[in-house]
Amino acid sequence: MQRDNKFETKVIHTGYNSDQHHGSLAPPVYQTSTFVFPDAETGEQRFAGEQEGYIYSRLGNPTVKMLEERIAALEGGEKGLAFGSGMAAVSAVLIGLTRTEDHILCSQGVYGCTFGLLQMMKDKFRVDHDLIDMSDSSVIEQHIQPNTKVIFIETPINPTMTLVDLEMVSQIAARHNITVVVDNTFCTPYIQRPLELGCQIVIHSATKYIGGHGDVVAGLVVSDSETIDLLAATTQKDIGGIMSPFDAWLLLRGLKTLPVRMDRHCDNAMFISKALKEHPSIDQVFYPGDDEFADYPIATKQMSRSGGLISFTIKGDKEASQKLINSLHLIKIAVSLGDAETLIQHPATMTHAVVPKEIRKQMGITDNLVRLSVGLEAKEDIWVDIKQALEVIKYV
Ligand SMILES: *Cc1c(COP(=O)(O)O)cnc(C)c1O
Repeated sequence: MQRDNKFETKVIHTGYNSDQHHGSLAPPVYQTSTFVFPDAETGEQRFAGEQEGYIYSRLGNPTVKMLEERIAALEGGEKGLAFGSGMAAVSAVLIGLTRTEDHILCSQGVYGCTFGLLQMMKDKFRVDHDLIDMSDSSVIEQHIQPNTKVIFIETPINPTMTLVDLEMVSQIAARHNITVVVDNTFCTPYIQRPLELGCQIVIHSATKYIGGHGDVVAGLVVSDSETIDLLAATTQKDIGGIMSPFDAWLLLRGLKTLPVRMDRHCDNAMFISKALKEHPSIDQVFYPGDDEFADYPIATKQMSRSGGLISFTIKGDKEASQKLINSLHLIKIAVSLGDAETLIQHPATMTHAVVPKEIRKQMGITDNLVRLSVGLEAKEDIWVDIKQALEVIKYV
């Protein structure tokens, strides 16, 4: 497949050639643990890396490889690497790139388990970290130490939708020879491509928009060949958090409709965010597509569209927020995001319940904040459901 195909073509074709698989239109699932060598010498050569070919599915599998090639092409990187979950991908990257006495600089408000991993690496391996506000370049400069190896960024940051200017951070990092890693889960390469902005590594929880159907937990990494080969030979192979061939197949299928789905997610979210803003029971709406949103200038700079996630605060307390959520009929109460179904959750008592209340407050995660992952249903139906639930809490 030629590299100069457009994104919408790559999501369908890159990494798979039906001529090599009996003309099968859909890619086959190579559901096998190991691969047969024709003779002992071949086995020797494959282990020595002198001959191309599969050995054992933890080290590589044809169905998984198709997905790795496809995601690499979509992010504009040289190689991809697949993992059993987003967190397996995050941990393989952070453990793979650091050693004892190193330092990681991380954007404040990262995904809870990434925060947990950083804590564990500090306690067990003496890899230290600082969580900082990355909106100010001088604050970033101040926190860079001689042993800073990685800058880890999530943008938009969950659930406040705060954005980090990737070009600005990658320029600072380049001056200090630091690797910039971006968790691109919320945007997908359809909306934001960090490698094109000077960052070195992209990570996905493919559980979310890449899969898109709420039926698989998986992770992906994209970078240059050298970095991916290093991770494949160390933290992926030896810690072993690999992706199963069937999950890779589900993701290859999910990716085919990524641009179509993302466009609908974005259209629906824009409609819902506008309707929420005009509603008297709503206090504030946090959506990168809102031209009054604080980080709107960064959104227009690095995101081609505004995404499918909205957070908002209601005029009310925790009980009112819970009552709102309980009053919904179509919208499902669940964490995770990026599915066909519209999902709602209450960060203060769910995804961010482990964060101490004071720190939660600093992060803007108040008890009246609600996060919505806008699905693919008719936007009018989604709004009717939210509107009737807002009616219920009006008199609480
Ligand atoms: C879900 C998520 C993760 C973790 O991914 P899993 O697939 O659940 O392991 C990491 N980062 C972000 C931004 C996420 O939303």
